[in-house]
Amino acid sequence: MSDNILEIRNMKKHFHLGGGKILKAVDRFSIEIKRGETFGLVGESGCGKSTAGRTIIRMYNATSGEVLFNGQDVHKLNGKKLREFRRNTAMVFQDPYASLNPRMTVGNSIAEGMDIHNLYTGKKRRDRVAELIQAVGLNEEHINRFPHEFSGGQRQRIGIARALAIEPQFIIADEPISALDVSIQAQVVNLFKSLQKEHGLTYLFIAHDLAMVKYISDRIGVMYLGNLVEVTTSTELYAKPLHPYTESLLSAIPIPDPEVERVRERIILEGEVPSPVNPPSGCPFRTRCPKAMEICAASMPAMKEVYPQHYVSCHLY
Ligand code: SF4
Repeated sequence: MSDNILEIRNMKKHFHLGGGKILKAVDRFSIEIKRGETFGLVGESGCGKSTAGRTIIRMYNATSGEVLFNGQDVHKLNGKKLREFRRNTAMVFQDPYASLNPRMTVGNSIAEGMDIHNLYTGKKRRDRVAELIQAVGLNEEHINRFPHEFSGGQRQRIGIARALAIEPQFIIADEPISALDVSIQAQVVNLFKSLQKEHGLTYLFIAHDLAMVKYISDRIGVMYLGNLVEVTTSTELYAKPLHPYTESLLSAIPIPDPEVERVRERIILEGEVPSPVNPPSGCPFRTRCPKAMEICAASMPAMKEVYPQHYVSCHLY
């Protein structure tokens, strides 16, 4: 079996808005995700990272390109193969308040995926729910309660148990900690990490909080206006960011040392993010890039491997 659980080639997701207008939510997106790794996807809100996640998992059909999961094109699957894919992939959503049915007990919510895929019934189903609720740090006594009786952090744990219930190989976590108190965020991230170790899971972890993404991810992709602009290991990205957009994102992270924090240079970007309905010609970042050159308006920079395993799309390289 290949090392890569996912190979995504030139994936695009465009939405037709009427009147001939096209929203290019995801326009240039090619990555490989290795089995057992956590791939972080970062960028400002509206940059297309959630749409990319939903297209990978086939909540949306791709406009073009290929999404290969275990070597099979997700967007061409049907029947038994599609059901198998659905069982091998799961999603944890940002809003733990909205993602649970308020009229369903926690136990039934967790078991919903198992029921859809006819995995367990009777005692086996009850035992599995009990096992899952404990795996995410809650108690068996919580099984018959309703979502409103839980805190945000606890609800997100329930969301994770729901995702795990179908024993997936791959989980997309879409801003799973953004709605939680800062004090709870690290606990939930640590839970993701320990479950990954235990179950050999692969994650696509979508977030705008770069500090948290660094902590959990093996590799990171940076997105801007529907395009991946830089991909490398988490260590390399923070030590040696190459793309001017990545540099500006990293410069905004506060440094805990007050001496360093006092003298460090912050890159404040000017202007607004352009509309994905009417993106700039050439490099999508050129209207805000402090290093833009003439060529940047004329042609889109190709993604190049500038250092081993460090890819960037910028005419500076
Ligand atoms: Fe800036 Fe040009 Fe590089 Fe785009 S290609 S990031 S505009 S320098």
